[in-house]
Amino acid sequence: MRNQKELRYLITPGNVVASLVAVISADSAGHGQPLRPIAEDAHVERVTGARPKLLVIVVGETVRAQSWGLNGYARQTTPELAALDVVNFSNVTACGSSTEVSLPCMFSLRGRRDYDARDIKRSESLLHVLERAGIRTLWRDNQTGCKGVCEGLAFESFLHSDDPAWCDGERCLDEVMLDNLFETLDPAAGDRVIVLHQLGNHGPGYYRRYPARFRRFTPTCDTDDLGACRREEIVNAYDNAVLYTDHVLAKAIAGLDAQQGFDAGMMYVSDHGESLGENGLYLHGIPYAIAPDVQTKVPLFLWFSQRWAESYGVDRPCLRARQSAALGHDNLFSTVLGLMQVRTRAYDPELDLLSNCSNPARHF
Ligand SMILES: [Zn+2]
Repeated sequence: MRNQKELRYLITPGNVVASLVAVISADSAGHGQPLRPIAEDAHVERVTGARPKLLVIVVGETVRAQSWGLNGYARQTTPELAALDVVNFSNVTACGSSTEVSLPCMFSLRGRRDYDARDIKRSESLLHVLERAGIRTLWRDNQTGCKGVCEGLAFESFLHSDDPAWCDGERCLDEVMLDNLFETLDPAAGDRVIVLHQLGNHGPGYYRRYPARFRRFTPTCDTDDLGACRREEIVNAYDNAVLYTDHVLAKAIAGLDAQQGFDAGMMYVSDHGESLGENGLYLHGIPYAIAPDVQTKVPLFLWFSQRWAESYGVDRPCLRARQSAALGHDNLFSTVLGLMQVRTRAYDPELDLLSNCSNPARHF
């Protein structure tokens, strides 16, 4: 125990009790108090008459960088995205090894570089800053909520949806979040930022995360009891779930591309990774300091409509030269501010993925 501290975190029920206490104390950190304002000087700077922007931020769930086709995984788990003009980043580190840690952190000003869980919980998020600048936000959720990120803001949950096209009475496939999404958007109402929080590869029931036609890697582990399956079967089910996420994202991009009235774009990033038997570990949530790479390295990509790429002067070769740079969730905050042309002293050009790879002078 003394020599292998990580063992402590593997012992049930001790780890469960410890995590529960951690979650309860984290949740109560900001309870009942107004959020501390950040970036109070935030405002949009753009020439009059410019097309409004529509940015979809997809928060992926439990997709690890090592299983991502665009990162060179031996299996092509992202065939639909590979056929699109997306800019993929292959060396991205998550802020946490769990949803509870990563979500508030990735939408925070502090991020991992200045991490303070309690202060992050008590402070406004990126979405509050966007709203202050006059950009309407919406958080659509097929998971367990936005963990405070969208507190007081527009929120729609599909947790208890019973849409027979996508839901089995227990959970819904992620495509449910695309229903009636683009049809209702009105360019005359201005800029929009929409967050889609996926169920993604949430385990251990990977086999329930995709429709039958995405069961391409076989045999699969078709039970929540991972101990009853061979490792190969678990990996197959997990990879099929990635294939389905690839499809959901490509479908969302097609919907965005059809938005004639907007400059449309997408950022996808997963919240954390997953262990699939490496070193005898499964699932995720190992304390960050000792979490293995498979739990902390995540996929991230950007997609821009032709109109956005032109109006923003997106320099794709410049971005591609940055594809394997060491990046992380900390890049989300300033990248989104930059993309939405929100000016504030809280913006850090060093963390904006597009700084020096776009031409703000060309904005029109
Ligand atoms: Zn998660």
